[in-house]
Amino acid sequence: MRVHSREVEKTVYRKLAERGVELEDIADIVLEMQLPYHPHLEFDTCMESVKAVLSKRELQHAILVGIELDVLAEQNALSEPLLSILREDEGLFGCDETLAIGSVYGYGSIALTTFGFLDKQKIGIIRKLDNKSYGKVNTFLDDLVAAIASSASSRIAHKQRDLEEKLLDARPDGEGQTAVQEEDKAGEFDPLLREAGENAAS
Ligand code: MG
Repeated sequence: MRVHSREVEKTVYRKLAERGVELEDIADIVLEMQLPYHPHLEFDTCMESVKAVLSKRELQHAILVGIELDVLAEQNALSEPLLSILREDEGLFGCDETLAIGSVYGYGSIALTTFGFLDKQKIGIIRKLDNKSYGKVNTFLDDLVAAIASSASSRIAHKQRDLEEKLLDARPDGEGQTAVQEEDKAGEFDPLLREAGENAAS
């Protein structure tokens, strides 16, 4: 039986919520990561980017695998020594990072370097998940959240460049600029569009 992609995506949303991760928590991290580069960036744009990267199978599958292992460890349903390694979030165990890193490759080097930064700095909910006294096993989940946030951050960085170039191409008659604004019907990238205009003009 082949599982429909819609089902997989729905399950990913449900599992993240069940494990105490709200998409807003991830969007907060994205905003913090990208705000220094895009001063007009708004929270809603970050949320949109988080949802967009969560529609990618590569990331969905990593999330399902990682959360499943966390849950099984929590239920003592794995065999030793893996059970103890996961329950203790053993420092030299790197499969959690490896799984998460594998899922960000599609978003390029910005995603990869942002992931490395988040892995070290543990911003926002990532720190909360990494806290062993939290009472749950989140060995994989903290890295998966970092993977989602870094992919969404990279996506925003690339979108921004695309918009800047479209606006530059639009000169001097402004036709392209109108096309960009029309494309942005939902207004999702309006703040970015404004910023792109400023950058293109500088
Ligand atoms: Mg981890």
